[in-house]
Amino acid sequence: MTVLTFHGGVNEIGGNKILLEDKDTKIFLDFGKGFTSLEKYFEEYLAPRSSNGILDFITMGLVPDIPGIYRDDLMFKAGREIKEPEVGAVLVSHAHADHVDYVSFLHRDIPIYMGQTTHNMIKAIQERSSGAIDREILEFKLAGTKRGDPKIARKINEFRSGNKFEIGSLEIEPIHVDHSIPGAYGFIIYTSEGPVVYTGDLRRHGSQPQMTEEFVQKAKEVKPIALIAEGTRIKDPPTNENEQMVYDESNKLTADTSNLIFADFNFKDVDRVRTFYNVAKANNRKLVVKIRDCYFLKYMSQDPKLGIPNWDDENIVIYKAKYRSGTYSDSDYYGEDRVFATSPNAMTASEIAKHPNKYICALGFFSFNALIDMKPKPGTVYIHSASEAYNEEQVLSTKRLHNWIEKFQMEHHQIHCSGHAKGTDLLNMVKEIDAKMLFPIHTEYPTEYVRVTNKINIVEQGKRYEI
Ligand SMILES: [Zn+2]
Ligand SMILES: [Zn+2]
Repeated sequence: MTVLTFHGGVNEIGGNKILLEDKDTKIFLDFGKGFTSLEKYFEEYLAPRSSNGILDFITMGLVPDIPGIYRDDLMFKAGREIKEPEVGAVLVSHAHADHVDYVSFLHRDIPIYMGQTTHNMIKAIQERSSGAIDREILEFKLAGTKRGDPKIARKINEFRSGNKFEIGSLEIEPIHVDHSIPGAYGFIIYTSEGPVVYTGDLRRHGSQPQMTEEFVQKAKEVKPIALIAEGTRIKDPPTNENEQMVYDESNKLTADTSNLIFADFNFKDVDRVRTFYNVAKANNRKLVVKIRDCYFLKYMSQDPKLGIPNWDDENIVIYKAKYRSGTYSDSDYYGEDRVFATSPNAMTASEIAKHPNKYICALGFFSFNALIDMKPKPGTVYIHSASEAYNEEQVLSTKRLHNWIEKFQMEHHQIHCSGHAKGTDLLNMVKEIDAKMLFPIHTEYPTEYVRVTNKINIVEQGKRYEI
């Protein structure tokens, strides 16, 4: 018997936590953080307490209440019974927080499977963030221990596209897909009842469409008994976006101005990093990056396939933000941050502002206090190169963003190519794969898929589906 239970990603974009049980084998497909579920109850100054172990997360429905899957220290603090782990593995599709962050809470003996690039991305994310409780994916500190105490490393297994491996009664085939982060995968899981296909997050209009096509093709060939498909943009109106268009439009804006340019994009999106790096180079400018983003460059530049420069590249400038002393003293920067901040290519706000036609600043809204030091001229270009706000919190930030733009009389442009497949591409994919049963997830509009199939289960959170 094979059973699917969805503990996240249900009527929500992200937070995927899908339990697959086959005979005596249990695995999770992703174990991500559901931002919408979290923001339903919590905000900046009201967060789940780590002092309560896993209890706040379980009680508020942010993670499933399953015995024996969480860290002993988090269970102990929650006043729960400590048990041996019952889950044999977690397969991570890619390194976005909504797919991987809550692995941080899982029992140390549960092996985590991921691609090599995902492993590197998570190393970068972990090094650049400040020990948050939900950023302890690769290693964690036991609750209550002190700074500097040794960390416990998880068991990480790397896989490669097309190389099958076994977990208990299951055989797993990971296949690369194109998404707005490198190293994303979909999975074909051969169960005792037949193949189950999980898309993870994907798109067919990105810079590597052949990877997604390979996945769709294989998924179709195996005649799956179940397809678990993302549907992020299933209801969005049609567009003709692509990464080349982002390059062309940004390149034109850059060629037409001698002012400073700000590009606001997600640094995990290598395609976008490459796009703005190339736009800068083509226009005799350098790309200015944040200290925190140097960690990404450090890891991404190791993979020659990604075509990403390292942080000490001649066309990269590191933005040396003003910290504690206000004097840019070396002692303001800790750990590896100091290596980046004191590198010969590090520059302060006023140094950058002296030559506005020499730089494209990869500095977004959260670095806008740099504007106070840079004093940009009216007409400075701001390119928002990310999806537009879709939840309340983001709408509030967007209002503030607009206030800053108005205050400094900047020009606002929206130029973006999404990491998620367009509605028609999703519908065609589901039609092509033609599984015996469809389980739409990672979407607020699962019923939209009835336009192409009647073999559909509108998923309910925590309900067991025998397949
Ligand atoms: Zn996602
Ligand atoms: Zn994603």
